[in-house]
Amino acid sequence: MFCYQCEETLNGTGCTKNGVCGKKADVADLQDDLIYVLKSLAFYNSKARANKLNDAKTDEFILEGLFATVTNTNFSKTDIKRMIDEGFDIKDNIKKKLLAEKVITEKSGSSFPRWIKEKILGAGPNAGEELPLMAKVTSESINNVDTSILVTQNEDVRSLRELLTYGLKGMAAYAHHANVLGYKDDETMAFMERALLATMDDDMGVDELVPMVLECGSVGVKTLALLDKANTTTYGNPEPTAVNIGVRDNPGILISGHDLRDLEQLLEQTRGTGVDVYTHGEMLPANSYPAFKKYDNFVGNYGGSWWRQKNEFEKFNGPILMTTNCIVPPKESYLNRIYTTGIAGFDGVTHIKAGEDGGKDFSAIIEQARSCKAPEQLEEGTIMGGFAHESALSVADKIIAAVKGGQIKKFVVMAGCDGRHKERSYYTDFAEALPDDTVILTAGCAKYRYNKLDLGEIGGIPRVIDAGQCNDSYSLVVIAQALAEAIGVEDINDLPVSYNIAWYEQKAVLVLLALLSLGVKNIMLGPTLPAFVSPNVLNVLVENFNIRPNSTVEKDLKVLI
Ligand code: SF4
Ligand code: SF4
Repeated sequence: MFCYQCEETLNGTGCTKNGVCGKKADVADLQDDLIYVLKSLAFYNSKARANKLNDAKTDEFILEGLFATVTNTNFSKTDIKRMIDEGFDIKDNIKKKLLAEKVITEKSGSSFPRWIKEKILGAGPNAGEELPLMAKVTSESINNVDTSILVTQNEDVRSLRELLTYGLKGMAAYAHHANVLGYKDDETMAFMERALLATMDDDMGVDELVPMVLECGSVGVKTLALLDKANTTTYGNPEPTAVNIGVRDNPGILISGHDLRDLEQLLEQTRGTGVDVYTHGEMLPANSYPAFKKYDNFVGNYGGSWWRQKNEFEKFNGPILMTTNCIVPPKESYLNRIYTTGIAGFDGVTHIKAGEDGGKDFSAIIEQARSCKAPEQLEEGTIMGGFAHESALSVADKIIAAVKGGQIKKFVVMAGCDGRHKERSYYTDFAEALPDDTVILTAGCAKYRYNKLDLGEIGGIPRVIDAGQCNDSYSLVVIAQALAEAIGVEDINDLPVSYNIAWYEQKAVLVLLALLSLGVKNIMLGPTLPAFVSPNVLNVLVENFNIRPNSTVEKDLKVLI
């Protein structure tokens, strides 16, 4: 295996034996194979799409396949193998359709560029001119396919291909969430197929790939906007909410991940059963949606961000439902009460499947909860949330007045991810050290590094404005645009806003590309820079966007404030 897609990659270079995340080498290799399957599927499906022969199921499969390989999403060998086989079947069916409709012929291979013949048609580097279209491969026989031709020796091209692939994984995750709620976008899918193919195209060098990476960011903004629309149209606009972090005496179910539809179904099915529901990790912002607040048994949030789950799940005592990332390999002590659903998976953990209509039956979890003890109390009190764009804009007058009056001197976007490494205490220290006339804008699980600190308010405006999950990052864009309009600034970089972003996995890569595509400069990124960014690619980012790594709280405060 070789994987360096996340911030916690071994020694900052790459995981080669087992993932730091717990991913085993065989699963890592299968995930690489799955990505390869999706790239070859993208080739055929892009032709189907151009001829209006595509279908929604293939789109869903591409999104799910990419999402499954995001860090801490699916560790199941069985699931990844199944997806590889399904991917080949889908591809074969599309190919048959394209042949039947004469979009391609058995001899079409001769007209394709060499890299397509070598990498997609499956004929290898020494293939003749007339090629059979991709021989049948399965999750078992894929190991016999020589994938070394997929890897380029050019470090910068490799780096940009990886950056693009990880951006696409993030985009797939966000698009999948919108899809679940019935919001789809054909142009986004067409871009994803084009970009997947670009990661194999030997005719594309650095000059062609850099714009493609930025395009990935701008399609990312569109994807985040669509997800925002899906969430707020379905569940209402989040409202400022003091979320309870204590516990009650009833048995409970803990729900984590990002899938709001799963939460909705769980709340509906637990209503009146005497079983409470708590959120964990990135599900915390769900407490601020009007549609969920109406449930009496929706108690609040339990614990902190994803990496604390081993300790916190043990103490929760009741069943835990993981709806998406981030699951970490479960401890024996709660293995019999953790469940996955949707795209999440872990061999040995019970998976709750959706029916044809997306409905899920959580009765087994609820039944188990009834026999469990109530959660052990970890903390008490509340944390403020629910400042997505509508509620932030509803107090825009106050905010603008505070900016114009000098009570707020600076906004610092501290969005992004949390992680288990000790150096992330930097973000707590940084938040504490910020001057009293600064306001933190956040989204994502990075907030757990400072959302329980008492940072106070400025004229009734909390000093931590929490827009929600990383899925809600679009809110930060809307807030920044509204601020620019209100104070009459044309260039987003002239706003009194600094960026100190924490990243961990590929959804954050997409958010970063989205910010770059909006022209945001001077982003400080940490705790370390991505291992997959080569020195030359980093230079491009520095020259064009002045991206820089974070250092010490003292130095960074001087730079950012
Ligand atoms: S996802 Fe991160 S921790 Fe897991 S194997 Fe890849 S680089 Fe390593
Ligand atoms: S904030 Fe980061 S680590 Fe947390 S779920 Fe989102 S992308 Fe993953």
